This record gives sequence, C-alpha cells and structure tokens, in this order.
Amino acid sequence: MKIAFIGLGNMGSPMALNLHQAGYSVQAFDLSRPACDRLAAAGVPIAADAAASVQGAQIVISMLPASRHVEALFLGDGTRAGLLPLLAAGTLVIDCSTIAAAAARKVADAAHARGVLFIDAPVSGGTGGAVAGSLTFMVGGDAAALERARPVLEKMGANIFHAGGVGAGQTAKICNNMLLGILMAGTSEAIALGVANGLDPKVLSEIMRRSSGGNWALEKYNPMPGVMQTAPAAKGYTGGFGTDLMLKDLGLAQESATAVQAATPLGGLARSLYAAHSLAGNGALDFSSIICMLQKR
Ligand code: NAD
Repeated sequence: MKIAFIGLGNMGSPMALNLHQAGYSVQAFDLSRPACDRLAAAGVPIAADAAASVQGAQIVISMLPASRHVEALFLGDGTRAGLLPLLAAGTLVIDCSTIAAAAARKVADAAHARGVLFIDAPVSGGTGGAVAGSLTFMVGGDAAALERARPVLEKMGANIFHAGGVGAGQTAKICNNMLLGILMAGTSEAIALGVANGLDPKVLSEIMRRSSGGNWALEKYNPMPGVMQTAPAAKGYTGGFGTDLMLKDLGLAQESATAVQAATPLGGLARSLYAAHSLAGNGALDFSSIICMLQKR
C-alpha cells in the first residue's frame, strides 16, 4: 500500500517514520528542505513535490499547520493547483492537522464530488506521543472510511475515537486544546507561585501531580525547566507544540463558541495570554514557555 505523507514538521515527521517502519511504502513531502532532509536521513523516501508524492497512493495523509494550508494543498490557491484532481476515485484522504471544522467540511465536499474519501483525524499526545506511536486520533467522517483508515492510524496511535461526521474530529480537538491551553497556564501559575514562595519546583510538581491538581502537564509536560528531562522546557522550549499553534487552536475554540453563543470565559482569557506571549516574540517557542510570562526575571 502506498501512502503519501505531506507535512513533516514536529508531528508529521515521526508519524511518517512510524508508517515507514511498519512496512508501508511512504512517499513523503514538505515544503521545507531541512524537514525533508531529516526524514530522508532516517530512510524515508522523499518525493520531489506534493503532486509526485500522491502518484499511485491509495492513502494521502496531511499534517499541516492551519486551515489555509490544508485548503491550499487540496483545493489550490493563487499560486498552486490543488491535489484533489490528481487523486484517483476511491483514494482516502486523512487530514491530521488541527483546522476549523468548516474548512474540513469544505475540503471533504470537494473530495466527495470527485469520489475521493475524506476524514478529519486530528491528534493529541504531543511530539512524544507521535514518536512513541501512542497518539489519540479524533475522527470525523463516514464509519466505512474510518475502518479503511484504522490499520494505518493504529501504526501511529493507541486510541482512535469516532467523534461523528466530517468536522466532528476537529470540534473534539479544539475542545480538548482549549482545556489544554487553560490547564497549562494554570499549572504554570501554580508552579511560579510556589517557587516565588521558596518551594522546590520538583517537589511542588510531584505533590500536585499526586493531589487533586494532578493533570497531563504535571504528568508528561512540566513547563518548569529542570523538572522533567523529556519535556520541551528541558530543551529551551524548542520542538514540541508551538505557542502560535496553541494560539490558533484557542482562536478556533472562540470562533466555535461565538457561532453557538457558548460561554467560554477561561478559553478567552487563555487565548489573550498566549497572544500576549506570542506578541512578546515567543510564538515559535513551545506553548509551555507561557510559564516565563508568570515568573520574576
Ligand atoms: P510544524 O510547524 O512543526 O510542521 C508543519 C509542517 O508543515 C512544516 O514543516 C511546514 O513546512 C509544512 N507545510 C506547510 N504547508 C505545506 C504544504 N503546502 N506542503 C507541504 N508541507 C507544508 O507543526 P506541527 O507541530 O507538526 O503541527 C502540525 C499540526 O498538528 C498543526 O495543525 C498542530 O496544531 C497539530 N498538532 C500539533 C501537536 C504538537 O505537539 N506539535 C500536537 C497535536 C496536534
């Protein structure tokens, strides 16, 4: 089975590598040359461009930053033709990017009009989960399309949920990431408070991890440097999940809230915090660097 994998960033690169190591014939591509070179060094075949990557592919996976990248890739924009006309009827597109549910439905409608199947399958679990192949997939689309995707998704993830029709995976994902943005800011605030009052951040983190404040950030992604060697905080907040990507997700959450007049006061506040952090020049740093905003310099 040939799989085109497009978007080889912090997440896409380890996901494509896992499929290659599972024995699939992966044809990978990214607009960034260094991203292609890193994966080529691991033995994954790189296509000359996106069009070449989908040649003969039964499945096309995309892992791109935002709605506009996914729409441009499949539908085309002013500068590039879209990929959809190049796909044979029956090809399955799996978009793993986190984008607006409306954008997923727009691409799905255009795909279906050509006999191409489409599911949105955004992920959770971070770069650690992508490397370990233990991601959680939140899938929107037909049950039959999901069943076709399942063996492939199982090589990259440990949990696969069918959230509903096309776009439902994206809706689940932005609910989750709104909560993640809030809990990372709250966890950072609590650690910064304890440290300012003389506590050792390792000791405080362990106390809270095993108490009622325990959460994913304390388990796997501590924002304080020196507490967890595997977290982006230990690498100067490089790699991981960029502040600007979290800001995008919190914006999507607010758009969804506006559409149905939902009250999301903490989500709105979290979006403003990450926006200020990004404006201060930290957009490319991992989102857990939000703790730097809450500490005395
Ligand atoms: P990233 O910025 O590291 O990588 C995105 C890659 O897409 C880049 O290498 C870029 O060059 C490439 N790209 C953009 N447009 C392209 C195009 N038209 N053709 C080919 N390549 C193109 O981002 P990431 O951290 O890998 O995240 C990807 C998606 O997954 C985002 O939607 C993000 O919100 C989501 N996500 C990220 C994480 C995380 O921990 N990093 C976790 C869950 C979900």
